[in-house]
Amino acid sequence: MSTTLDKLKSKLYDVNAIVAAITIMDWDQQTYMPKGGAEARAEHVGILSRMAHELFTSDELGTLLSQALKEVDPATDEGAMVRVTQRDFELRTKIPSSLVEEKSKLSAEAHERWVEARAHNDFQSFAPILERMFEIARQEAEHLGYTDHIYDALLDQYEEGATADDCVRMFETLKANTVTLVRNIQENGEPIDDRVLYGNWPEHKQRHFTEVLLHDIGFDLDRGRQDTAPHPFCTGWSIGDIRLTTRFKDYLGSAIFGSLHEAGHGMYEQGSPMAWDRSPLAGGVSLGIHESQSRLWENIVGRSRAFWSRYLPPLQAEFHELQAFDLDQFYRMINKVEPSLIRVEADEVTYNLHVLVRFEIECDVLTGALAVKDMPEAWNAKYKEYLGIDVPNDANGCLQDVHWSMGSIGYFPTYSMGNLLSYQFWTVLQKDLGDTDAMIAAGNFEPILDWLRTHIYSKGRKFTPKELVLDVTGKTITADDYAAGLNAKYREIYRI
Ligand code: ZN
Repeated sequence: MSTTLDKLKSKLYDVNAIVAAITIMDWDQQTYMPKGGAEARAEHVGILSRMAHELFTSDELGTLLSQALKEVDPATDEGAMVRVTQRDFELRTKIPSSLVEEKSKLSAEAHERWVEARAHNDFQSFAPILERMFEIARQEAEHLGYTDHIYDALLDQYEEGATADDCVRMFETLKANTVTLVRNIQENGEPIDDRVLYGNWPEHKQRHFTEVLLHDIGFDLDRGRQDTAPHPFCTGWSIGDIRLTTRFKDYLGSAIFGSLHEAGHGMYEQGSPMAWDRSPLAGGVSLGIHESQSRLWENIVGRSRAFWSRYLPPLQAEFHELQAFDLDQFYRMINKVEPSLIRVEADEVTYNLHVLVRFEIECDVLTGALAVKDMPEAWNAKYKEYLGIDVPNDANGCLQDVHWSMGSIGYFPTYSMGNLLSYQFWTVLQKDLGDTDAMIAAGNFEPILDWLRTHIYSKGRKFTPKELVLDVTGKTITADDYAAGLNAKYREIYRI
C-alpha cells in the first residue's frame, strides 16, 4: 500500500511533466519557432498552464500535503520537499486559475509584441499590453497579500522573505559605493581603449570558442546544450537536460561572458542530486542565489586575469585582430567601466544602477505614481540622473528587457542580490581553497566547481535562501564583500 508521501510524489510528477512541456515550448518559442507559430503556441501554453495550475492546486493534492506535513520529519529531505511544496502551494492557491491562464496567454502574445516593438523602436505599440500586464501583477499582489508595500508580495515569489524595504537599503549602500568608484575611475583612472573588441566576428568561431569554455569550466554538454536566442537565458526540464542560450553581436564579449553567465546558472541546475530529479527540491533555491552563481562564473572567474592568462592565446588564434594586445591590455579591456545603455552588457561596477532604475519604475507603476505610457520619459530621466547618459531610443531604453513582457515584475532586484552574494560566497570559497588564481590559470576548475556543488548546488531548494547564505558564509546578505572586492579589483585596473 502506498504511503501519503508516495501519493503526493506521484501527483507532483504529473505536475512536473506538464510544466516540463510548457518549459520546452517556451524554450522553442525563444529559439527556433517560426513567427507563424505564435498564436497556436499562446493557446497551447495557456491551456497547459491552466492544467498544471489546477492539478497542483487541487483539493486532492492539498489534502495529501496537509497529511504529509504531519507525517514527515522536517529535518529530512522528504520533510524539506513537503515544506517547499507547501510554500509553492500557498503561492499558487492564492491566485485564481482564471488569472493564471490570462497571464500565460497574455505573456505569449506580449512576447511577440515586445519583439516587434523593439525592432521598430515603438514603445507605444507595446504600452497597452504592458499596462494590462502590470494590472495583472497588481491583482496577483492583492491575492498573495502583503503588509507594507505591494512590491513585497511580488518580490517574495522570487526571493523568499525579501522586501521592498530591503531593496531600498541595499541600493542605498550600492549607489553610494558605485557612484564614488565610478567618479574616481572617470576622474583619476588611466583610460581604457577597448575598440578592438567590436567587430564583425564570425558566428561559428564564437560558437566554437564559447563551447570550449563551457566544456572546460564544467558545464556538462551531455546533460545540456547551447543555442542562440535574442535574449540569453538558461532553462531546463530535468537535471539531465539543461539548456543555455547565447547571442552573437559586434561586441566579442557578448557571447563569451553571456555563455559563462548562463553556464553558471546551468551548472547550479545540473548540480542538484539526481535523486531529486523532477521533484520540487531540485534546482535553484531563489533567483538571488541563482544569479550569484552566474555572476561568480561570469565576473569573478571569467573576468579575472588568471582566466585570460589561459584563454587569451586560443582566443587570439581564432581572432587574429587581438594578437596585437598582451594579457594586461586585454584584461583591462574586458573590465572597462563605462556607464552604458544595456543592462545585460553593463560592466559589473555600473550594473546595479541599471537594476535600480527598473526597481524604482516597477514600484512607481505598481503604486500608480507612474503611468505605463510615460515609462520612456521616466526611464530616460533616471538613466541621465544615475548613469549620466542620454537614451537615444526605446529599443536601447525601456524596451531592452524581456522580463515585463513575461509578467516577471518584482524580479529585477534579485540581480543585485546575486552580485552581492557572488562575492560573499567567493570570499569563503577562497579561504577554503587557497590559491584559486593558480587553479584558474591552469584550467583546473574542478576544485571550484566541487566546492560550489558541495556548499550550494547539492542543497537544491532544501534550505531557504536566508538559511543557505547564513550556513555557507556565517552572515546574512551584505554589500561588504562586494564593495571590497570591486574596490580592490578596479583600483588596480585603473591604477588609482
Ligand atoms: Zn542570470
